[in-house]
Amino acid sequence: MSREYELVAGLETHVELSTKTKIFCSCTTAFGSEPNTHCCPVCIGLPGTLPKLNRQVVRSAIRAGLALDCQISEISKMDRKNYVYPDLPKAYQISQFDKPLCRDGSMELSNGRVIRINRIHIEEDAGKLVHEQGDTFVDYNRGGVPLIEIVTEPDFRSIDEVKEYVERLQLTMKYLGVSDCKMEEGSLRCDVNISVRPKGSAAFGTRTEIKNMNSFTYIARAMEYEFSRQVELLEAGETVVQETLRYDVAAGVTESMRGKEDAQDYRYFRDPDLVTILTTGEEIEQLRASLPELPAQKAARFAGQYGLSPADAALLARYPRCADYFDEAAAGLAKPKTAANFLIGQVFSRLGSESAKEACAIPFDAKALHDLAALVEEGKINMGLAKSTLEKMLDSGKGPGELLSAADMEAVDDAKLTELCRAAIEADPKAVEGYLGGKEKALQALIGAVMRATRGRANAAAAEKVLKGLLQP
Ligand code: ADP
Ligand code: MG
Ligand code: ZN
Repeated sequence: MSREYELVAGLETHVELSTKTKIFCSCTTAFGSEPNTHCCPVCIGLPGTLPKLNRQVVRSAIRAGLALDCQISEISKMDRKNYVYPDLPKAYQISQFDKPLCRDGSMELSNGRVIRINRIHIEEDAGKLVHEQGDTFVDYNRGGVPLIEIVTEPDFRSIDEVKEYVERLQLTMKYLGVSDCKMEEGSLRCDVNISVRPKGSAAFGTRTEIKNMNSFTYIARAMEYEFSRQVELLEAGETVVQETLRYDVAAGVTESMRGKEDAQDYRYFRDPDLVTILTTGEEIEQLRASLPELPAQKAARFAGQYGLSPADAALLARYPRCADYFDEAAAGLAKPKTAANFLIGQVFSRLGSESAKEACAIPFDAKALHDLAALVEEGKINMGLAKSTLEKMLDSGKGPGELLSAADMEAVDDAKLTELCRAAIEADPKAVEGYLGGKEKALQALIGAVMRATRGRANAAAAEKVLKGLLQP
């Protein structure tokens, strides 16, 4: 990245809502079926048909807006956005123009910078073009699937900020249950607007818009490429042309799709087939009350209530089911951090895949994890034994009560430890001689003997201290 130039970016993110039925008809929104099987006269736009707004779409969009601190419009409406393209049989998309459902929201990033959200509006998705063996086909199953479009102000100053925003947006929508946000299935797609300006300059540069990005890797690569391209143009004394770009994944370059388009090109006008969308203050407050604890709130609570590091707290908050599991395991522990370490360390590495973590596919229940952490806390087992027990729990699904014998859990108190240290000293005069002769290492043999005698339950550091005390000349 060039040191003399600053990146400026704004995002328009489309999120497919996971309502059962489409936005203006009762066709299913299910993904992955045979092409053109989820269609009816309304969603393929036959003349004479009338759309009827699915109220669940309004509710989901308002909940998304509330989660992003937006103002909700009590009066809103649908408009027609006119353009001709084969994926849009009506030749207009029903969207919202000047009265979006939500406005003026924000998201605070971990570096403290606030990204302002200009608006969130609802609209219908278009169909999908499928290119196969030199032919192009069209699948209208996606046509009429409800979308929300979330538009930020040009407030991003780095690729990392964009990544954090998209990740958090995705997680927030999942917490709300309004969308599964599967980027690989296209249920979350971003248009990234980018410009550059000399550092310290107040005015924005001319922007380009990279359309339809649906992977974090490609968002980052495309932004890097586009930033350098614009900087090089300016350095060469040329100008950036405002245009819409596509990122060519294979070639790793952005390429022009179309030139500057003005809003009026779409000849927006109110859709005369749809009534005004009215929402009462009471309904908005009910929806606000229905919001779950959101990712940032959960992470802050985990850090405050359980003493986790911000990174660990955020990691657990990424997997809501694991977060609930942890809440259950942590209840009543003096040091919940131990349980968190077991979970984030050994358990997560065993779960491996993202989907296993998302499903919280742990073979034993939260109580078993709680019990294991409690045994460590009470000094009944040491960390080494706890870790090997945890491996067995992961193998068998059994709890520590079943895997540890009474003898395993017999507490090694101070008196017992001293007794065992004395025995170790008596049994190994050679090691004692070595240690007294200045070989620090010889002590390890004695510590090892104590650990063996307790089958790993003693605290090695404590044993070392007692042994040194006993061997003091
Ligand atoms: P339009 O109405 O032409 O789509 P908007 O003003 O709505 O333009 O902006 C679209 C997106 O582009 C927004 O996300 C906004 O933050 C972003 N944007 C606007 N100007 C710039 C700029 N100079 N550099 C980067 N992004 C910008
Ligand atoms: Mg735009
Ligand atoms: Zn339909």
